[in-house]
Amino acid sequence: MFKGILIEKDDAGYRAAVRDIDDARLPDGDVTVRVSHSTLNYKDALALTGKGPVVRKFPMVPGIDLVGTVESSTHPDHRPGDAVLLNGWGVGEAHWGGLAQKARLNGDWLIPLPSAIAPLQTMAIGTAGYTAMLCVLALEKHGVKPADGEILVTGAAGGVGSVAIAILSRLGYTVVAATGRPQDADYLRQLGAAEVLDRAQFTSPGKPLGKERWAGAVDVVGSHVLANVCATTRYRGVVTACGLAGGMDLPATVAPFILRGVTLAGIDSVMCPRADRLRAWQRLGTDLDMDKLGAIGHEVGLADAIPLASRLLNGEVRGRIVVDVHR
Ligand code: NDP
Repeated sequence: MFKGILIEKDDAGYRAAVRDIDDARLPDGDVTVRVSHSTLNYKDALALTGKGPVVRKFPMVPGIDLVGTVESSTHPDHRPGDAVLLNGWGVGEAHWGGLAQKARLNGDWLIPLPSAIAPLQTMAIGTAGYTAMLCVLALEKHGVKPADGEILVTGAAGGVGSVAIAILSRLGYTVVAATGRPQDADYLRQLGAAEVLDRAQFTSPGKPLGKERWAGAVDVVGSHVLANVCATTRYRGVVTACGLAGGMDLPATVAPFILRGVTLAGIDSVMCPRADRLRAWQRLGTDLDMDKLGAIGHEVGLADAIPLASRLLNGEVRGRIVVDVHR
């Protein structure tokens, strides 16, 4: 038996609770992992609360991230005792995930622990931080350099935003943070933001084009915020879009793209090919100041993740939540 969060949906309703689960109920897979830590991402919060259609099979163990040790394996790349890490691949959505003391997985989804990052630090980074790195890699791929000008990060005090600020500032970019939490301005400056803006200036319907300001952007919000960011991006600037914290819609015009050559780069972490994941984690090891990670990550126990989910969706959680599944 092991402890895990189980999400159930039946005539009694949609509910999540910590349960004792029999090993025999673990799904198919060629690697069994003793999980040490998982995390609480925006998507996990949607799964735990049922506020978004994230869970595709019931009952489900949520948790799109996990770190742990291989207990048994028939996969050629993984041996008992190996430290492994997992982000995404539909785990915690269609396949039992990391918010439990044990997981059985497809070994192709697992990656070895990056040598420069401690197990607990991988979860302080988690899918949110790895996605922030994918955004930075996309800015680089499209040629955005520190000398080109300011980079805007929206949803700045959240998980993706916090890690994006820390990485970009370490790489020498001038980072401007947009947040709905002015009380967290000191935190954002400590992570490396040169300026902190009130997100209210981006949340209402705007003009097709505005004054050019951003050389690049990392947007986690979508909707009017993303439309306004595109409209104020400089000639040939690059906007990376990875989130929908403010809405799934995109009420924009094509003006920034056809008149200013702005690039809108979509970022997906879930099905991201293995080579790109390994590159992102390797870059996190060199380009993220682990001291700043200490300010970003907070550790909680397994049962705490359930009430925290609603608070995260309300934008009340700062940075990243690491879940110790043995607490
Ligand atoms: P968090 O909840 O930690 O952060 C989201 C932040 O967005 C909040 O902290 C808040 O920042 C801001 N925000 C929340 N609601 C609104 C709103 N209504 N209007 C404007 N801003 C808002 O989530 P994560 O950082 O983990 O994830 C952010 C987004 O990125 C989510 O939509 C998530 O689904 C997506 N995501 C996508 C991935 C991918 O593969 N494409 C991978 C990981 C995440 P502040 O308080 O500073 O304003």
